[in-house]
Amino acid sequence: MNNRFADGLKSGRFVVSFESVPRRGANEPSQQELENGLVEVWESGLVDAVTVADMPSGIPGLRSESYAASLAQKGVNTISFLTCKDRDRNALEAELYSFERSGIQNILCMTGDYPKTGWNGVPKPSFDLDSIQLLNMTSQLNSGLEYKGPKGADCKLQPTHFYQGCAVNPFKFSEAETMMQLWKLKKKVQAGAKFAICQIGYDARKQQEMLWLARENGIDIPLIANVYVLRYGIGKVMHDGKIPGCYVDDLFLDILEKEAASDDGGVAASLDRAAKMIAIAKGEGFAGVHLAGIPADPAVVENILEMARGYESSWEDFVPNLKFAPAAAFMYYGEDSDTGLNSHEIPEDYYSYPVPVVTPRKGYSAAQALLPSIGEQVSDNSIEMSCDLWPVVDCPKMQRNCPCGGSHKGFCEVYPENKCIWVDAYSLLNMRGEHYSIAEIDQPPLNWE
Ligand code: SF4
Repeated sequence: MNNRFADGLKSGRFVVSFESVPRRGANEPSQQELENGLVEVWESGLVDAVTVADMPSGIPGLRSESYAASLAQKGVNTISFLTCKDRDRNALEAELYSFERSGIQNILCMTGDYPKTGWNGVPKPSFDLDSIQLLNMTSQLNSGLEYKGPKGADCKLQPTHFYQGCAVNPFKFSEAETMMQLWKLKKKVQAGAKFAICQIGYDARKQQEMLWLARENGIDIPLIANVYVLRYGIGKVMHDGKIPGCYVDDLFLDILEKEAASDDGGVAASLDRAAKMIAIAKGEGFAGVHLAGIPADPAVVENILEMARGYESSWEDFVPNLKFAPAAAFMYYGEDSDTGLNSHEIPEDYYSYPVPVVTPRKGYSAAQALLPSIGEQVSDNSIEMSCDLWPVVDCPKMQRNCPCGGSHKGFCEVYPENKCIWVDAYSLLNMRGEHYSIAEIDQPPLNWE
């Protein structure tokens, strides 16, 4: 099957992916209706791939492999999201084999949102692997996985054919979170990520900052900007910190509320903003856009892309309307007073979104019992050894290779009353001038033997 998405990125063409979320159920009318719309969007030739989300926001749903396979049978090129949140490493390996059997090449490897709800209660979280380890597994499958058979024999599998990518969140407003997102992106690329899709966000300068930081740090994979067509309802949910890693400030929420009061409920304004975001992303040098938050309707997609083309030549004019970072946000680069974007000057004194000290974290007593056996596995180069911080106990997602993308203003996605353990680690190491050591952390999966 042709891979228009991968071919487009490799050739330097500006690509467009289109998001779908199949949600709960197997044969729901809404799922079929969405699928019909996605096929039409694909056949219109306006997009290079349809992405299939993997149970976002910690809610159960149809497996992305199943929905993507169904779309692939109709000729649609897909990018399947694959998250670590509900599966241990063996289940993830099995999932990758299913993708390969279904001919699905484009995979977005992510840690995933913490589970929030499920049949008969909240499920036991998995997080056996993190996104870096999942990328490593995928890369090894692509090379033909080598392993020891039951009698110690050397075995090697047929190589798979994945074009694997990752996510990155440029919209972090403290120094610690910004730098650790960058370092984690670098680790993901070293683990085999070939492209990255950005988290949802609404600040042109922050978005450009991650692109510049990536390039200056030798990260040369294509970065794809996220263009979520936002209206008041979802904007309010993001504003309230209920969608992991997404930030909407008071000012932006006010604008969305005013737009919602218009005759069309804010539809035209949200589409116009999305078109300008596409023009800005292209102007800033992103390799493409990931379009989300609109119905699977070719007419709507065509309208946005057509408007975006009209805005391309004057993209910098729209930057002032897409600056919704907190006033005291950390910015690595100085501001270019002409454009409102970044200048190449780095301020001598960083300023940083304040992350106050809070009470001790909620702990996980069951995991504490495992500490002796885990303690034997940690290397010198780990936050366990350098900071005496134990993600297996204190990070709900057990992230041992840098934080997940879900922190909110320095606080944990899962327990917002707790600081993110990695923000604490950064602060502790910063006091010793050793915070750059986090970039070198490379922890393999734990052995639960
Ligand atoms: S402690 Fe940090 S890395 Fe762990 S789940 Fe919370 S926000 Fe994510």
